[in-house]
Amino acid sequence: MWENYIKQLNNLPVENWENLYNKFNKNKNDLVSLMILIHPENYNHLIKIPGISDPRGNRYFDNTVFSIDRNQNKCDSIKIFGYICPLKNSDENKINIDHLWPFSLGGPTEVSNGIFLCKIHNNFKHNDIHNIDENLLLNFTWLEELLSKIKNLKNFEKQGLF
Ligand SMILES: [Zn+2]
Repeated sequence: MWENYIKQLNNLPVENWENLYNKFNKNKNDLVSLMILIHPENYNHLIKIPGISDPRGNRYFDNTVFSIDRNQNKCDSIKIFGYICPLKNSDENKINIDHLWPFSLGGPTEVSNGIFLCKIHNNFKHNDIHNIDENLLLNFTWLEELLSKIKNLKNFEKQGLF
């Protein structure tokens, strides 16, 4: 499934974002369309404009987004790699926060898209989505808000308000 998606991404349909959005709203199980809809490629040119904020928020999690005790939280490797982290949270394996759905694929920097990973698993991750449950994308709580933010950007663009 993800391979199928990646193939389609390499051959992005020359389709208007709004048309795709309307299609997706008629068939909300269309994962490939959804992945295209939230892809930053749709708005990367817009967020370079001063005053326009990135629908994903800041690039990095910080304490204002996610306050954690980095020594207490356990590596959540199972969500990404499909197995429980065997490492103890020793000093050299302090917990990092990363995006569950990668920022580079449109994942926002917010608590519901955060994942705790030990240093080693964080280094392994590299935006890997292969072990993420496909249907999880449809159930992310941030999805509707992100789509509506991108829709607003697209509307402004269409109206030439930038
Ligand atoms: Zn780990």
